[in-house]
Amino acid sequence: MGLIVQKYGGTSVKDAERVMNVARRITNVYKAGNDVVVAVSAQGDTTDDLIAKANEINEKASKREMDMLLSSGEQISIALLAMAVEKLGFPVVSLTGWQAGFKTDSHYGTARIKTIDTERIKTELDRRRIVIVAGFQGLNKYDDITTLGRGGSDTSAVALAAALNADVCEIYTDVDGVFTADPRFVKNAYKLDDISYDEMLELASLGANVLHNRSVEMAKKYNVKLCVRSSLNDNEGTYVKEVEQVEKMLVRGVTRDNDCARVALCGVEDTPGKAFQVFQMLAKNGISVDLIIQSIGNGIKKDIAFTVTEGDLDTVLKLLEDHNSMIKADEIKWTKDVSKVSIVGAGMVNNSGVAAKMFEALSDAHININMIATSEIKISVLVDRNDAERAVNAIHDKFMLD
Ligand code: ADP
Ligand code: ASP
Ligand code: MG
Repeated sequence: MGLIVQKYGGTSVKDAERVMNVARRITNVYKAGNDVVVAVSAQGDTTDDLIAKANEINEKASKREMDMLLSSGEQISIALLAMAVEKLGFPVVSLTGWQAGFKTDSHYGTARIKTIDTERIKTELDRRRIVIVAGFQGLNKYDDITTLGRGGSDTSAVALAAALNADVCEIYTDVDGVFTADPRFVKNAYKLDDISYDEMLELASLGANVLHNRSVEMAKKYNVKLCVRSSLNDNEGTYVKEVEQVEKMLVRGVTRDNDCARVALCGVEDTPGKAFQVFQMLAKNGISVDLIIQSIGNGIKKDIAFTVTEGDLDTVLKLLEDHNSMIKADEIKWTKDVSKVSIVGAGMVNNSGVAAKMFEALSDAHININMIATSEIKISVLVDRNDAERAVNAIHDKFMLD
């Protein structure tokens, strides 16, 4: 007997049959005597469809109005799921993010949860109701609806589990757990039994969208026991927790991120302070730069290239042009046809040769590397987008099948 928080993603509630399936799963947990709080996403492709609808009318709609629109997807799901639970004869209540007490900051579109006032949820649990909460949304200090960023329902669930001190937070999705790579396009990928918070955080931040990266950050911070599993079977999922390197694996996962664009400043003066000028200017304007590479230079000219998210590209190009009287680049080049491919594993810090093995895999597959970045727990390379899936497969098989 305990308090269980569950989250069901879009594919798990995509139609009436799937909604009924989720209702049965929830009520089984409730019947066993548990308190049950469920966070739900919008059905299927609803969020994408809503974005497309907005673009038909105004491609530059304000983020506030986008949040007003996008939050409606989750509101549909909670009502339908509650109706399904009612049909099975169990007490239930659906709550929007604000009814459930989610308070966020005011970064529309990427808001962060500040607090959850759990009074309403606790009252409902005391009445022995199943509580169904809209994921992905909250309310800011102006009483405006905000959303937490794509994939943000995972974070809603973990936040609920932390605030309610739940025994476990189960993330139900359309795969059996966290795999060594995206099983959608890596045929040899296999499920991990467990993974550490730090490794999962890197994987999620580097493109493995099976979990929203902020949900992992929060689970680590509040020590939430997190489990990723399928809503379509009863297989054991993957536990995300504080783990020692149980399986002696150097590399735990390979991932790809298409949300990047490369910008190159060609022929800037080879003098001290150039990189500082460029990156300080970008930082001041709220731009996060990811991979950076600078050529050695010949004492006269050098090149600086870096990556940013696709969404920031237009702003970055405009900023660079506006500041080119200071930067003095001969030419500013850019491309969106690149992807970042990364390997992640806490075990690689003490092992030499991991990078070489990764590059060997790429070399064998005749894939060119554009940029490289390493840290204690990950190595990332930038490759042409057309090569990205092949790169992930080649690297995966090199490390995981040996
Ligand atoms: P949900 O709607 O349930 O939140 P998502 O589409 O956001 O589902 O996340 C699940 C998807 O994440 C899977 O279908 C899979 O294609 C993708 N994915 C990417 N990387 C991984 C990985 N390493 N392990 C498992 N799934 C992954
Ligand atoms: N519906 C939102 C999205 O598609 C949030 C989520 O699914 O987690 O991004
Ligand atoms: Mg998701």
